[in-house]
Amino acid sequence: AAMGERVARRSLTIQDLGQALAAAPVGPSWLRARGPAPALQVHYQPQFDVSSRELTGFEALVRWTHPQRGPISPADFIPVAEETGLIVPLGAWVLMQACLEATRWPAHLKLAVNLSAVQLGSRDLVRTVADALERSRLPPGRLELEITETALMNDPEAVGGLLQALHRLGVRLGLDDFGTGHSSLACLRRYPIDTLKIDRSFVQALSDGPQADMILRTIVQLGHGLGMKTLAEGVETAAQFATLQRHGCSQVQGHHFGAAMTADQVLVLLAPSAAVPEFEL
Ligand code: C2E
Ligand code: MG
Ligand code: MG
Ligand code: MG
Repeated sequence: AAMGERVARRSLTIQDLGQALAAAPVGPSWLRARGPAPALQVHYQPQFDVSSRELTGFEALVRWTHPQRGPISPADFIPVAEETGLIVPLGAWVLMQACLEATRWPAHLKLAVNLSAVQLGSRDLVRTVADALERSRLPPGRLELEITETALMNDPEAVGGLLQALHRLGVRLGLDDFGTGHSSLACLRRYPIDTLKIDRSFVQALSDGPQADMILRTIVQLGHGLGMKTLAEGVETAAQFATLQRHGCSQVQGHHFGAAMTADQVLVLLAPSAAVPEFEL
């Protein structure tokens, strides 16, 4: 009975998510007519440079508010969207929306967007990315696509070619949740990865003792040794930040610095005194 209920709930989820996506507006939030907030939104979590402490950009994170059930975590609906293939149009929507909204940020700020392994397997990913860049006019160098280790495992040859093609568009590539998957270290050399995103479990383990500290330091050295930038995720305390700084980690992201916020909140953060223009479409 419990399984039947889970299956029913799942098909409900996927149907509702499909509807939310069909109704999702494309275009920056400030160009939207006033009204109820759309069920699907992209939120943005700030990322900072460790040595200068300056804001370097934001990671786009999709948010879904179900009309009856309220907010549903991406950790719950992304896997369902991956199983059904809905992640392909959903991911394309997130990318387009995020690129459009990021064009309003100062030109030195970067945008990171998550790509699912399923998207990497879809035929027109390069086209989709090129489209989003063209339509938004976001300079390709400001976009970083985050992939996970699992995505690299599927078909190393095909994935290698795809990553090279994406790199040729001028976008940067990040390896997300590093250390939690099962990629061999050889992958790191084989693919054109610009940023190593150290999974938050390594940061959170710091309080456990000297071994966690040593592991984190070694990952930072590995990344830098391979010519990559390192970014630690899930930094929640000043003590964690101090350790990362001591180990020479390049960038940080986490609740200690700020959670994901709406596109409008980003604009307020970037220009506290400037009012957001109010256009209507
Ligand atoms: P991720 O890409 O590793 O994103 C980081 C996650 O950690 C986000 O969870 C973020 O809100 C959360 N986080 C940030 N700082 C902290 C912190 O200090 N402590 C803790 N405990 N958590 C923190 P979120 O938004 O729930 O997303 C979960 C995962 O869902 C993401 O992990 C990513 O794998 C996936 N996801 C989110 N949006 C998208 C998307 O648009 N496309 C795809 N394919 N996946 C997405
Ligand atoms: Mg990510
Ligand atoms: Mg991550
Ligand atoms: Mg993740």
